Amino acid sequence: MSTPATRSNAPSSSPAWHALPAQDVLQQLESTADGLPADEARRRLDAYGPNQLPSVARVHPVKRLLLQFHNTLIYFLLTAAVAAAFLRHFIDAAVIVIVVAVNAIVGFIQEGKAEQALDAIRDLIAPHANVLRGGVKQDVPSSRIAPGDVVVLEAGDKVPADLRILRARNLRVEEAILTGESLAAEKHADPVAADAALGDRACMLYSGTIVLTGQATGVAVATGSATEVGRISAMIGQVAQTSTPLLAQINRFGKLLTWSAIAMAAALYAVATLVHAYDGADALMLVVALAVSVVPESLPAVITITLAIGVQRMARRHAVVRQLPAVETLGATSVICTDKTGTLTRNEMTVRRLAVPGLEVSVGGTGYAPEGALVLPDGSPARPDDALAVLLRSGVLCNDARVVERSGHWEVVGDPMEGALDVLAMKAGLDPAEERRRWRRLDEIPFDAEHRYMATLNQAPDGGRFIFVKGAPERVLAMCADQSGGAAGQPPDPAYWHARIDDAAAHGERLLGFAMAQASDGLERLAPGQLEGRLTLLGIMGFIDPPRAEAIASIADCRRAGIAVKMITGDHAATASAIARQLALADAPQVLAGSALDGIADADLPPIAQRTDVFARANPEHKLRIVRALQSRGAIVAMTGDGVNDAPSLKQADVGIAMGRKGTEAAKEASQMVLVDDNFASIVAAVHEGRTVYDNIRKVIGWTLPSNGGEVLSVIIAVLFALPLPMLAVHILWINLVTTVTLGMVLAFEPPEPGVMRRPPRRRDEALASGFLLWRIVFVSVLFMLGTFAVFEYAMQRGLGEDGARTMVVNLIVVMEIFYLFNVRYLHMTSFSLRGAAGTPAVLAAVAAVTALQLAYTYLPFMQEVFQSTPLSVRDGLVIVGLGILLMIILEGEKQLSRKLRGAA
Ligand code: ADP
Ligand code: MG
Repeated sequence: MSTPATRSNAPSSSPAWHALPAQDVLQQLESTADGLPADEARRRLDAYGPNQLPSVARVHPVKRLLLQFHNTLIYFLLTAAVAAAFLRHFIDAAVIVIVVAVNAIVGFIQEGKAEQALDAIRDLIAPHANVLRGGVKQDVPSSRIAPGDVVVLEAGDKVPADLRILRARNLRVEEAILTGESLAAEKHADPVAADAALGDRACMLYSGTIVLTGQATGVAVATGSATEVGRISAMIGQVAQTSTPLLAQINRFGKLLTWSAIAMAAALYAVATLVHAYDGADALMLVVALAVSVVPESLPAVITITLAIGVQRMARRHAVVRQLPAVETLGATSVICTDKTGTLTRNEMTVRRLAVPGLEVSVGGTGYAPEGALVLPDGSPARPDDALAVLLRSGVLCNDARVVERSGHWEVVGDPMEGALDVLAMKAGLDPAEERRRWRRLDEIPFDAEHRYMATLNQAPDGGRFIFVKGAPERVLAMCADQSGGAAGQPPDPAYWHARIDDAAAHGERLLGFAMAQASDGLERLAPGQLEGRLTLLGIMGFIDPPRAEAIASIADCRRAGIAVKMITGDHAATASAIARQLALADAPQVLAGSALDGIADADLPPIAQRTDVFARANPEHKLRIVRALQSRGAIVAMTGDGVNDAPSLKQADVGIAMGRKGTEAAKEASQMVLVDDNFASIVAAVHEGRTVYDNIRKVIGWTLPSNGGEVLSVIIAVLFALPLPMLAVHILWINLVTTVTLGMVLAFEPPEPGVMRRPPRRRDEALASGFLLWRIVFVSVLFMLGTFAVFEYAMQRGLGEDGARTMVVNLIVVMEIFYLFNVRYLHMTSFSLRGAAGTPAVLAAVAAVTALQLAYTYLPFMQEVFQSTPLSVRDGLVIVGLGILLMIILEGEKQLSRKLRGAA
């Protein structure tokens, strides 16, 4: 076994695999068409290393720390510190250095935490692949594939390693990632010329490309960084986005503020020295301190952590965000377009009724336990004689699922509807495994959402060959020339069958039709053309698939939150509409069938899409048209999808949501979010968190800016009117230092306000700096300024002297910031409540920390030395807290008033 140092993901000398016959490739790799034995696969994995590209080169921690200082403002601050030192203002210089250092450390830690959180979440949706190990198909993480492993692929899969194709059917692959060619490349198992270019190696599949149609098995010839993608660049693939439009907006805003602060500082310096003859050095220090306090240097860091916390909370609720901007967009979602099966329903299927020509049977039992009787309408047990037996058998043969009993509990491996067919056969006394052994499968056409049927070619025990088809009943019916049973030989009566279908669908049952045909003896391969008009109808089945209880609750939440929910399903219109009613999707759900949608021009679609609740028998192209139509009306659309054909609509949607369980890699790749549990409730939970994140960002900004504004306003006024300065440079720097690392952080951790899901979604173009926020900044800044001068005047009257007065001012500003924080915590309701007063652990910890720091500032001799602070009496302390309470009352009054005004507007 090789040591890590000599590890390489490819066998030492790689031949031109594409020029060799598949059999030779297997031989050279010492593998077989059945794959590697499990222990050999493990051994090779150890030898070659995991099938992973080296993760995007991480910035070294030291460099990351240094980068924290790489910022216009920090350069400005450090220059100021040097200047202060030259002016022999050593304390100011030291405080500035501490501000810079603390800010950098906090930024560094938070960035690290955010990155870790995102990494951990990414692991939740790491790609998987199917491999054959000793002939048994297994689902393994793609990272555990070794050279020689045989990989099984189907439409929607992402190729997990470089593979030499062993067998392929109708295989088309998208290789844009490698060749830049977005047209699908056809692939097959035959060797090509040794000098063929990458794009012409039709018998090779390359890691990272996507299977669009068909199926294949291939043997891994290279894994990890030895693959072609690995060679081109280690960076291709998931380039994690770390910025969002909002963050960019805030960064631009921060820069603007920095430059205006510098300009303002220069002007103020000129006024102070030229007009009022302040001491040059003192004035310089003062304006520097002001600039320091104005600039929200910690804002981007706090907002990044707010987003990261949102991502974490969403992951805890089973919604994994792949792209950070989705966190913001989710909060603004106004329409959710969702699949039905498995998302709104439980995807636990049970066959409830069967109809064969002239006979109807109902089936007892629930879940997947093979217990329950087949009963005729008169209550007598149904005997699986001819027609019924054939129907049951076709259900077992045209089927890729298995049911297994695990410690007394029956589970499906594979498609739940197909599993239900096995269960049904067992209820009737058939042994599915035995049937499948006797009726060997030769070929199949897999199910796809476009054509809505699946077909298999089987060899009967006596050697004859038969085709079995199951699919959407209208589709199957259209392919049939006659029917089985008593009415054998006659064409199926559409009226009779549609009545059966409608009856089952009206009960919310999902439907399958079944048909078969005798095939010619030599037939090896199935092609769609062989089915049309040549089948014999066997019957139909109705499946129940109960709605998820939590989906019903979440839909109610959406309706309260002004979010429209639209069901887009491949199912029958009546089934979909019955389920929509059970879910209370709308008071009277409006249903539109895909065929009707085809007749509507794009220009006419928007109003229709807007008022339709259920799109039935819809295919992936319909989905794309629906998203576009809704978006054209200004909606922010979240759309779910699972298949490879859903990729375009997932990309088009504002938030594309892929299913974690039944979704293909292609769908996940195209999406911004993945639902780990495929559950509709998780989408709504993510919207809830998304709204909370946006609220919290507004709170962070709403708190940070006016707190600084007050200090600036006070000093400007003092300088302009040549009043004694209520605070000096060191004091401003101190306030800035203690509050940013304590109070400034906590709003990122705020839990959702109770009413988040009871208001309409925010508008797409709503600016962060809304009129309300601007008004808030001015109003609060003025209140802070008034408080500052009031307490300064009070202290001077009491004879505390300038040092004592400034000590009171510093304490007052911090106290006001605390009270203001409690006010900002609830943007949409009063903070005068038990809940509002209690705070969160984060809030309480921050308040405790800042209080301790202020007590130290006021009473510790060392601090008194540095900041010229003086101890305050209990009475003065009470005055400060009293002013804080007064501020709170005024702000709450203003909140109520502005809510009323906005309500009236
Ligand atoms: P959805 O997921 O929106 O409920 P699908 O596209 O999966 O819809 O299915 C649409 C229809 O196709 C179903 O109503 C059923 O009649 C048929 N169908 C679904 N799965 C299979 C399958 N595995 N084999 C054959 N037919 C199927
Ligand atoms: Mg489906």
